[in-house]
Amino acid sequence: MVDSDTTDEEFLLLNPGPVPVTEDVLASMTEPMVSHRSADFEATYERAQEGLDAVFTRSTLDGTSTSDAGTSLILNGTATMGMEAAVANVIDEGDTVVALVNGKFGRRFARIADRYTDDVTRVEATWGESIPLSAVREAVDDDTDLVTMVHNETSTGLLNPVAEVGEIAKDHDACFVVDGVTSIGGDVFRIDDWNVDVAVTDAQKALGAPPGVSAMYVTERAKAAIDGESAPFYEDLDWHLRKADQHQTPFTSAVPLFRALAVAVEEITDEGMGDRIERHRRQAAAFREGFTAMGLELFADAEGPTELSNTVTAVALPTELREADPDEFFAAVKERNVSISGGQAHLGGQIFRVSNMGSLSSAQILRGVRTVGEAMTD
Ligand code: PLP
Repeated sequence: MVDSDTTDEEFLLLNPGPVPVTEDVLASMTEPMVSHRSADFEATYERAQEGLDAVFTRSTLDGTSTSDAGTSLILNGTATMGMEAAVANVIDEGDTVVALVNGKFGRRFARIADRYTDDVTRVEATWGESIPLSAVREAVDDDTDLVTMVHNETSTGLLNPVAEVGEIAKDHDACFVVDGVTSIGGDVFRIDDWNVDVAVTDAQKALGAPPGVSAMYVTERAKAAIDGESAPFYEDLDWHLRKADQHQTPFTSAVPLFRALAVAVEEITDEGMGDRIERHRRQAAAFREGFTAMGLELFADAEGPTELSNTVTAVALPTELREADPDEFFAAVKERNVSISGGQAHLGGQIFRVSNMGSLSSAQILRGVRTVGEAMTD
C-alpha cells in the first residue's frame, strides 16, 4: 500500500492535514446512507472505536498497551472541537489553567481556556523553540486544575515532551489534556506512562482519514472530573461518553466520515503500530536529510527533551527567497502538482511545511524533496 510509485502528473498532497487517504477509505464514503440510529451505524462506530482504542493505547514500537481504562469516542467536528470539548468539560469558571504555548496550536488551547475561566497562565517560548521545563515547574502548583499542551506542534515541526510535563502535572494533581493531533497514529504516545488524562486527535492527520471528525481518549481518571455541566451543549462529554458505551452519539453522526475513520484505523492495525511509527520516523528523516542536503535549514530548534517532529517538517525559507517573493516558490511547487503548506500566523512567508502523515510511499517523499529543490531554483 505505501510502496506505490508516483509520477509527476499525479497530484501529491503533502500538507499537514488533510492527508492522502487510501482507495478503501474513500470508497467507504460512497456506500448507501443509513440512519445514525441503526444497528448498521452502531457496528461502524464499534469498529472505529476498537481501532481507536488500539491506536490510542498501543502507540508504541512494541505494541504494548499504555492504558486499559478509558473510552475512545468520536465527535462531529475537527480537532479544535475536540480540544474545546476536553477543556470545557474538565474545568469550571474560576479554575486555574496552565497552557504551554510554543506554536499556533498551543496558543489555541490557551485561547479556548480563556473562554471558560479567567485564570489562564501561558508558559511560552518563541514558536519553534523548546519550553524550558523549569518554567513549567514554576507555573504549575497545587492550585492548578488543568495543564494543556500540544505533543506535535504542527505549526513549527517540534515534538514537545509530554512525559516530562505529565510528571509535573501529576505531582500537583492537575488534570492533563494533550493534543496528539499530529502524533497519534504516527508516533509513540503513552497515555498512562505520561499521565495523560484526555488525549485528542483528528481523523484527517496521522489517522489517515478525511477531515470532519475528531477522536479522543478519555481515561477513567478524567471521567471523574467530567460532569457535563460546564460544557457547551453539543460538546457535553458526559453525554458523549454514555452514548459511546452504546456505540452511539448524542446527535446525528456524520455517517460517511465515521465509516471512513473505521476503515482508516483498521488499516493502521493491519500495518502494525510499531511498523507504522518506524515508517513515519524514516520518512521524516528522509525529508530532513533531503532538505538539509540541499542547503536548507530546518525551522525548529529542538533542545533537551524536545525533539524534531516525525510527522511534520518545517523548513526556513532562504533569506533571498523570503525577501524576493515567497509566493513564487509556492506557485512553482503547485505547478508541479505537489501541495505543501506555508507558515501560519506570523510565520507566513518565513517557512514551508510538509507532512509524511498517512500512507505515503518512499517515492512520494523523494518526489516532495525533489519538487522543493526544483521550485527553489526556478
Ligand atoms: N492541533 C493540531 C496540532 C493541529 O495540527 C491542528 C490542525 O492543523 C489542530 C489542532 C486543529 O485542527 P482544525 O483546525 O482542523 O480544527
